[in-house]
Amino acid sequence: MSRTLIHDALLLAPMDDARTRIPGGFVLLEDDRVLEVGPGPVPATVEADRRIDARGKVVLPGFVNTHHHLPQVLTRNVPRVQESALFEWLTELYEVWRGWDQDAVDAASRVGLGELLLTGCTTTTDHLYLFPRGQERFIDAEIAAARDLGIRFHPTRGSMSLGKSQGGLPPDEVCQDEPTILADCLRLIREHHDPKPRAMTRIALAPCAPFSVSDDLMRLTAEMARTHGVRLHTHMAETSDEERYCLEVYGCRPVEYLRRRSWLGDDVWLAHCVHLSPDEVALFAETGTGVAHCPSSNFRLGSGLAPVRALLDAGAPVGLGVDGSASNDTSNMLGELRQALLAHRPGKDPARWLTAEDVVWMATRGGARCLGRDDVGSLEPGKAADVILVDTRRLSYAGALSDPLAALVFSPFPEPVDTVIVNGRVVVEGGELRGVDVPVLVERAERISQALLRAATARTGRDYFRPKAR
Ligand SMILES: [Zn+2]
Repeated sequence: MSRTLIHDALLLAPMDDARTRIPGGFVLLEDDRVLEVGPGPVPATVEADRRIDARGKVVLPGFVNTHHHLPQVLTRNVPRVQESALFEWLTELYEVWRGWDQDAVDAASRVGLGELLLTGCTTTTDHLYLFPRGQERFIDAEIAAARDLGIRFHPTRGSMSLGKSQGGLPPDEVCQDEPTILADCLRLIREHHDPKPRAMTRIALAPCAPFSVSDDLMRLTAEMARTHGVRLHTHMAETSDEERYCLEVYGCRPVEYLRRRSWLGDDVWLAHCVHLSPDEVALFAETGTGVAHCPSSNFRLGSGLAPVRALLDAGAPVGLGVDGSASNDTSNMLGELRQALLAHRPGKDPARWLTAEDVVWMATRGGARCLGRDDVGSLEPGKAADVILVDTRRLSYAGALSDPLAALVFSPFPEPVDTVIVNGRVVVEGGELRGVDVPVLVERAERISQALLRAATARTGRDYFRPKAR
């Protein structure tokens, strides 16, 4: 048994139901859980093996990232798709992504997960849906990387079964047949899913989107998830192109398409949900269907802006997602909080804007609810020992500390989070990842990235190193 005491916080924000704020507060951790939270001074009876001085620091539960595609780290800022909207962006990048192998997925996972940790994220999901022929073990590689870095991880087994030859969007070479997909979903659940409290790894099932999987696969995946008690995830209502596709092919809007296939419910969370009608917002709240809000990605690809104020007011679960890095070009969780804060302001009545408090709530409690977890997202006795400390004695926070919690969202943040503890283990200390040689990792990732772009350029005759003529 080991106890860690975090004491004398500038501000402790446990993100409990009462939205308590505790200046001078402390948190006592015992192994993988929170034992006690309270105002200072620390009672003389408290004993600890390790003490962390939190003077000048804001102490929070770690953030929860609800949508990502880690291997896309290797295709950030690709010149050819800097100005492409979703469908064009996808069809261009499939040609690069089909070159992924285990080494690429490993390197990209370490970069993306490292960025998440350094920006305060302690629990993340990933949506991996592209498996070039003979490469079925990508998710196992991601899980190994997450274990090494020490982040709590919810990988989702994605899938694409509808290639170009069958009217889908992706090339046939990166699609799999349904028996192969379902067998691997089952294998991953059996080998890696841990339903216990404070679990470090949980699997969810996640067909890519209605335009890349068959109807049958949507249905069979939902059945399997419910048989085994794992969650469901997919992309939904991201663009107006998708809405048109659904109307043409299925004769209904995307949300109705999902509803008819039993894909709404409190065991489902969906990425984007940009194009929702007021009735659909109400349906999300009624069914408890979660939304992974990804404002940077939605702006990057010109998709639009999800009706988050309406979803929150209706009581639907809403979390934040950095989305997979080719459509955000970073895995910066704090950056996503600020993007969410600002995105909902233009043209709106200030009474309908998101506040810093709303945004921090989405990044903690909202995200935890999306992932079906009641043991992360807040610092309360019995919850997981996932804590972040942000040192406010930095240039970026000077003059902003009359409201230290909001300062994390409003003020620029070039510096990383100071300390990150996941499941009781310190994984970031002094703003640096423990056990990771960053320059070596960056060099390795960049080398793989360049090789992927060169291979795609050679294969297709398109120049991935130059912007497209406009
Ligand atoms: Zn996505």
